[in-house]
Order: sequence, then C-alpha cells, then structure tokens
Amino acid sequence: MTQKLAGKVAIITGASAGIGAATAIALAEEGAYVAIAARRADKLNEVAQKIEALGGKVLQVVTDITDEAQVQNLIAKTKETFGRIDILVNNAGIAIVGQIANANTDDWRKMIDVNIFGVLYATHAVLPTLLEQKSGHIVNISSVAGRTVRAGIGLYNLTKWGVNAFSEALRLEVTPQNIRVTVVEPGMVNTEIDQHISDPVAYEKSQALRKSITPLEAEDVANAIAYAVSQPERVDVNEILIRPTTQYW
Ligand code: NDP
Repeated sequence: MTQKLAGKVAIITGASAGIGAATAIALAEEGAYVAIAARRADKLNEVAQKIEALGGKVLQVVTDITDEAQVQNLIAKTKETFGRIDILVNNAGIAIVGQIANANTDDWRKMIDVNIFGVLYATHAVLPTLLEQKSGHIVNISSVAGRTVRAGIGLYNLTKWGVNAFSEALRLEVTPQNIRVTVVEPGMVNTEIDQHISDPVAYEKSQALRKSITPLEAEDVANAIAYAVSQPERVDVNEILIRPTTQYW
C-alpha cells in the first residue's frame, strides 16, 4: 500500500509521551520523516527507537517549548536535516487544573507558557519556511476545553480558547498562501496529563471523571491528525472535535 505522507517532513512537539508520541509514530508509519521534540531526552529516545524499528526516519531535538531560542533551533535543525518542513503539530501542552481561588499562580504562568507561548513560538518560527514553499500544514492541539467551559478548569479553558482563536486568525492569514491550519479538540484521552495537577482535590476530580467514562487512547487522536494531514492539498480540514463516545460534556 502507498504511504500517504511519503517525502513529507513533520515536526511534532510534546512527542515524548501521550498524543505527541502516538502522532509521531502514526505519521512515520505513513512515510513522513519526523522531528520529535520535548524536554525528556530518554523518553524521546524510546519513541525514536519505535519509529526506527518501523523503518522510519527520525530526528530527536530536546526542546523546552517555552524557550523561543530552543524552538527556533528545533525548526532550523529540522530544515537542515530534512531540507523542508511540511507539517507542524503543536501538541505540547499541560493541564494544571483547579479552582481559580485556590490556584498557585505559578501554575497559571506555566500553563500559559507551554499551551500559548509554545504554540506561538513554533508557529512563528516555522511560517517563513512554509510561506517560502507556498505549502505546509499547521495542526494545533486544543481540547473540548477550547469550546466548552467547566468550573474548576478555568485557566486551562483560557489557554485552549486562546489556541482556537489563534488557529482561526492564522487560518485567515495563511490560507491564501496555500498553507493549511487544523485545530484538533480531543475529549478525555488516556495519557500522563493529570500527573502535573498540584491541587489534590482537582486531581481526584479529574481522575474520577476519567474513570466514569472510557477515555480515548492517544492513538485515536493520532489517527485523526494523520487523517487531516493526509488529505489532498486542495482539502483543508479546519477543525476536528473528537470525544470518547460516553463523554457527554
Ligand atoms: P502528556 O502529559 O501525556 O504529554 C505532554 C507532552 O508535552 C509530553 O511529551 C511533554 O514532554 C510535553 N511537554 C510538556 N511541557 C513541555 C515543555 N515545556 N516543552 C516541551 N514539551 C513539553 O499529555 P497529552 O498527550 O494528553 O497532551 C497532549 C496535548 O493534548 C496537550 O496540548 C493537551 O492539552 C491536549 N489534550 C489532552 C487531553 C487529555 O485528556 N489527555 C484532552 C484534550 C487535549 P516533556 O515532559 O518530555 O517535555
């Protein structure tokens, strides 16, 4: 069977775990050369080994997405290694949820740095290459929390609504230059994401919600991303909202 992404180059942020790792593997299975980025070198290496075992080509770039210079280095190294960039998946994200009144405001800064500035830095750094090529695809991982607000996750909501608004503004600016923009909004996914929650009450609440349904697996979201980036160039899948079947909220 022909691989739909043969000859394409994809960068995936937050690729050391969860949705990002599954997406890197899914895109490599379709023939893309992948650059994988995150802070934990050992975990990145595990993902890289899986990709290589499938016969894929992979570049590991240890990157803290909140540091603009490191993000610029990620984009530059990818271009230097593979010669072009076709797909950027802005996936790195954290969810330190909890009530506004109880919050440690450092958690707000961390979340805004990763979920907002991470997306902005990577998008800004990759755009000159995509504009020069007159082709490319940016996929921003938002959340159901980018469309519906719940008490107890207000700052996460703020970041993901921000990602949705930014994605639409970006789409309006770059589609005339033949660049595609997709925003993906998963419901609950079975990953490490809850492990950063510092408020024990919020942690228990989130875990209870996850246990009340059958969450998505990271591969389910990766498949949705692979679908969006595998379409013919005339097709721009603007938005994918994907919930576990039993998640009504
Ligand atoms: P995980 O916690 O499993 O993975 C998060 C990834 O982001 C890791 O690879 C982590 O790597 C990376 N990351 C975190 N901080 C940074 C940083 N400063 N610099 C670089 N990389 C960083 O989470 P998920 O896979 O669940 O989340 C992926 C995306 O999906 C996020 O944007 C999240 O908001 C979104 N999402 C998740 C849902 C869920 O229920 N799981 C639901 C809806 C959306 P490292 O620690 O090695 O740096």
